Amino acid sequence: MPGQFNLSVDEAVAEAQEAAGLGLPGVILFGIPPKKDARASGAYDAEGIVQEAVTAIKKGARDLLVVTDVCLCEYTDHGHCGVVEGQEIVNDATLGLLAKSAVSHARAGADIVAPSDMMDGRVAAIRRALDEAGFAETPILSYAAKYASAFYRPFREAAQSTPRFGDRRSHQMDPANAREALREVALDIEEGADIVMIKPALPYLDVILKVRERFDVPVAAYHVSGEYAMLAAAAERRFIDRDRALLESLVSIRRAGADLIVTYFAKEAARILRRS
Ligand SMILES: [Zn+2]
Repeated sequence: MPGQFNLSVDEAVAEAQEAAGLGLPGVILFGIPPKKDARASGAYDAEGIVQEAVTAIKKGARDLLVVTDVCLCEYTDHGHCGVVEGQEIVNDATLGLLAKSAVSHARAGADIVAPSDMMDGRVAAIRRALDEAGFAETPILSYAAKYASAFYRPFREAAQSTPRFGDRRSHQMDPANAREALREVALDIEEGADIVMIKPALPYLDVILKVRERFDVPVAAYHVSGEYAMLAAAAERRFIDRDRALLESLVSIRRAGADLIVTYFAKEAARILRRS
């Protein structure tokens, strides 16, 4: 993706300081481990890439909120979000590893953990594990409504996390279904989610609005890689005005009801807003 890079820990600290300087409230971290294996060991290694980055960023950019993505797909050699037996993802074995990952992030200093896998029961499992480990105050931002979307591809290529076989449609939601999102959100809140996220953002503004109207927790929206790439490519060919189109996109997501937006345009938007 134009303008987007994988960063080393040092580079991530510099990036975080730049973000803080622009007035952005927080960052979310995704890790690419040096080695991937079937048990996703890199995800819950105390010296893993995300754990080290969290500690370094909290030292280098004190006031910045650090959120960590909690999932296994970046760490498994097969690219699935959980433990695989045969061709199946095993839900319960996966929960233990997700909970371990979340606790290791909190231990490293993460302010918020964000499970993105959509496995059943993972918010409750993570909540319990955090509480038992002494992190009762660490909030959970759950990817509560995550659609099986064509707009994830640039990220998956960057994170080398495209599943080797099968796809994620068994645990991601059907784009045609809006009510299922409300059920998923309700379940996650019941299990202890403090913030709920809808992903992607622009093709699902109606879902953001419905969730905003129905529930009284902060709502996040994830403006994903394909949404970014589409806009960046159109602007590059001068089909649209980049600054205006990106601000209009972010305003739309906000108007629909998102309290916070995860976007590749964050720094750029902050710069545009400062100028105006
Ligand atoms: Zn995943």
